[in-house]
Amino acid sequence: MKHISLLLISIAFSLSLWSQPENSFFVIHCDPGFSHLFPKLRQMVDSATVHNVPLTLELSPQWVYSILEDDAKLQQVREWQEWGHEIAAHHHSIFHCFWDSLTNYVADSIMLYQPQAPACDSGVLISNMQPFWDSLDVLCGDSLLLTWGSSDNNPAVDMYPDVPYRTDGGRTDPAQAFSNPYPVVHGPTEMAGQTYGPYLTCQINYFFIDNIGKVNAVKNLYLDNGFSNDYSVVGVVTHVFDFNANPSYFFNWLNFIEGKGCKTVRQILRENPCMVFASKEVAGQGIDIDIFPNPAHSAVTISFGKPLSGQLSIFDNLGKEMLRSEINNQTTLDVSALPPGIYTALFYISEYDLYTGRKLVIQ
Ligand SMILES: [Zn+2]
Repeated sequence: MKHISLLLISIAFSLSLWSQPENSFFVIHCDPGFSHLFPKLRQMVDSATVHNVPLTLELSPQWVYSILEDDAKLQQVREWQEWGHEIAAHHHSIFHCFWDSLTNYVADSIMLYQPQAPACDSGVLISNMQPFWDSLDVLCGDSLLLTWGSSDNNPAVDMYPDVPYRTDGGRTDPAQAFSNPYPVVHGPTEMAGQTYGPYLTCQINYFFIDNIGKVNAVKNLYLDNGFSNDYSVVGVVTHVFDFNANPSYFFNWLNFIEGKGCKTVRQILRENPCMVFASKEVAGQGIDIDIFPNPAHSAVTISFGKPLSGQLSIFDNLGKEMLRSEINNQTTLDVSALPPGIYTALFYISEYDLYTGRKLVIQ
């Protein structure tokens, strides 16, 4: 009897381990306008280090510049990297209410898309993205910039070229903290004679936490196996200014998540099958792939410019693989079972042993 109950306990234990997301990540947004809060960021990172929770620090241009101007801050960042925290990029695009004043969009687009005062703090153009990209190269150093976190309706234009990982998410529903890594194609977008993309990123989602109610909402979903066992990753994000205002929620989450598969974004995505393809070498290279019609309705034809073969997987925007097929020079697929929406067509090309992605729209 004792053996049976031990057995039941161990089965229940292993089931509960199996049921919850195996990975967690914690992003800190270092927003423009708050780079004077570096000492607060240090408190956050120090606390996370004590809890053995590696953070992904997404830094806006203003933070990156202020760190590079100050040897003591730069030294501090190097120590964080050595411990295992990740340095990543944060960008408020022209679509954001608080634009960080950098963009590759041309003046007409800025006028057209930027949310206006008084509701939003309309910025004034400082520069294109190049100085930020260059500064990220310096700040990230040997570890390279691998993660792009932006609020952007069309990330291709401002994105660091060929960056392989991206975070996305929201602040309305705690379920947004749960995801499975999914591939997304950004661009190509033409602007002023430049072509941006296509870039293939592997993405995971986060939910914004800034108070104890939101932390509890994510915890409850995490502990609800019926919900959370569909997801391999739970992720949250907070702002340095939120921590500055009242840090109790931050410590509460650290205490909860400690020991629960805590990794940086790059660690999670590097280990994930979604990411096998999206290395810097293969994203956005120029293989000629014709997809027609696109948008498609019931059938779509894939055609290569030369004799190639491989495999095609079609993912929905939640990262679910909806269709898989062998392909060759010209292949027609029945897509009538796919609901209308935007999909990622991920190609494996045998001859080159590489992956590349394209957008596919089903109407
Ligand atoms: Zn932000």
